[in-house]
Amino acid sequence: MVYLKGVTAYGFKSFADKTHVTFGRGVTAIVGPNGSGKSNITDAIRWVLGEQSARNLRGARMEDVIFSGAENRQPLNYAEVTLKLDEAGQLIDGAAEIEVTRRLYRSGESEYFLNHNKVRLKDITELFLDTGLGKEAFSIISQGKVDEILNAKPEDRRQLIEEAAGVLKYKKRKKETESK
Ligand code: ATP
Ligand code: MG
Repeated sequence: MVYLKGVTAYGFKSFADKTHVTFGRGVTAIVGPNGSGKSNITDAIRWVLGEQSARNLRGARMEDVIFSGAENRQPLNYAEVTLKLDEAGQLIDGAAEIEVTRRLYRSGESEYFLNHNKVRLKDITELFLDTGLGKEAFSIISQGKVDEILNAKPEDRRQLIEEAAGVLKYKKRKKETESK
């Protein structure tokens, strides 16, 4: 089963220095004082998975994810986050470890990489579709999200269940075929 082995961030939010976080198997807890960057780690993961809404990343504009400077520290020109996923055969046939990277420059230019090869956002979205890891998925449930799921309309809640069950891929393909 695919699992998240590590996150490397540079220039993303408060991570002005290249920061590696390694996850073991089982339960992981991130602890630290208020404002130390715990939520920024989940934001970083969500961002690489293709999140397009700055609001969902607790910002006003997407540029807000780039390190904006601190005392004695100049702002940086780009943000880059890499996720290392292990046992990724479910995502790419025969794959063991894979790396997915997203980079954003202040100019607005955005890049995605799969194992260091440049790919499109669409490739990333498709890679994670139906795995439960995608940006629309339930892999990251934030504080407000719990209420949102409980109060969701039945159709919206169904989407979540379909993603979990892995049928979205087929629905998407059916739609593509029908539109040809
Ligand atoms: P809490 O316990 O309150 O939830 P936390 O550990 O989750 O705190 P985060 O929300 O991850 O903290 O981190 C917030 C910090 O990140 C703030 O100090 C904020 O200034 C900093 N930060 C966010 N975006 C940027 C940015 N673009 N550049 C520099 N620092 C940033
Ligand atoms: Mg937090």
